[in-house]
Amino acid sequence: MKKLLIDRYGRQLNYLRLSVTDRCNFRCYYCMPEEGVNFVDRKELLSYEELEELTLLFSRLGVNKIRITGGEPFVRKGIMSFLEQISKNPGIDQITVTSNGTLTPSQMHQLKSLGILKINISMDSLDRQRFFDMTRRDRFDEVYGCVLELMAAGFEVKLNCVVADGQNISDIVPFIELTKNYPLSVRFLEEMPFNGKNTFETPQWNHVAIFNHIEMHYPHLLKLRDEANGTSVNYKIPGYQGSFGIIPSFSRTFCGTCNRIRLSATGELRTCLYGPPATNLRDLIRSGAAMETIEDEIIAIVAAREKDGFAAEALTKKSPKRSMSFLGG
Ligand code: SAM
Repeated sequence: MKKLLIDRYGRQLNYLRLSVTDRCNFRCYYCMPEEGVNFVDRKELLSYEELEELTLLFSRLGVNKIRITGGEPFVRKGIMSFLEQISKNPGIDQITVTSNGTLTPSQMHQLKSLGILKINISMDSLDRQRFFDMTRRDRFDEVYGCVLELMAAGFEVKLNCVVADGQNISDIVPFIELTKNYPLSVRFLEEMPFNGKNTFETPQWNHVAIFNHIEMHYPHLLKLRDEANGTSVNYKIPGYQGSFGIIPSFSRTFCGTCNRIRLSATGELRTCLYGPPATNLRDLIRSGAAMETIEDEIIAIVAAREKDGFAAEALTKKSPKRSMSFLGG
């Protein structure tokens, strides 16, 4: 009988978020400090061979969807060859990527030829100055140009926008206006505590506040059907080509149908972003553990998974929150 990853609440985990690096060429304020980020030593990162082995292992356990993330995946040397390798795995039906939009035209072209056509780009502002203030990098034109190029090349593009008071509230409506003439999906996310610091305040701009703000501007918005295991609650403005969604990433209203498992670039395995690592697969591999032993350990970890992000967070309450770039966004 095929072994599957099923937790004690009956949820099957078939979606792996695979982080390939903790490094990033941006310094988004909600993710990491401007300076003094301690990236791990390169030998602590899972090698591409290890990542390939683990991808195979997860696909044997019923994972059929992988999102490549980081850090910024496209800053790791050799990423395109790795994507080429994993795209040959017949067990994986869909590979998607999350990027900050600094990938090169050649990387876009290669993604297309590998059939990787769904891409999430993080973009928090349509205003050059605010973009700079939030990312601490003056690369608005490049990122916006990348979004336009991806759409022109036929990619299915989603924009991820972390909404925060005092930062980019005035960008919400312009982002929705962008969906008028482009087949984009813009997703507004609540800010989460994964900023690599010890301080975090409950976001005022939660999913309800975001929705109310949008509804005030667009009283005729339409509710769309949401994806079965999706995290975003989706809408569109009648007559607009694209759509938008709100992700209650801090309020965690979607845990009941969560099908995700996360592997950090250093091998930490998490069944919830808010929880502690359950094991380190890099260490297990490097200690010479047999793949079957590793599979059984993962199955046991998944079986013991917490009910939701609040229960998972209770296990880590006292430790400082890591950067999302380290956890794998
Ligand atoms: N470098 C890629 C990118 O920029 O999309 C992938 C990694 S990034 C950590 C993945 C996602 O996490 C981005 O959409 C980013 O906005 C989001 N993110 C990072 N820190 C966050 C936080 N504290 N709260 C909410 N979202 C966060």
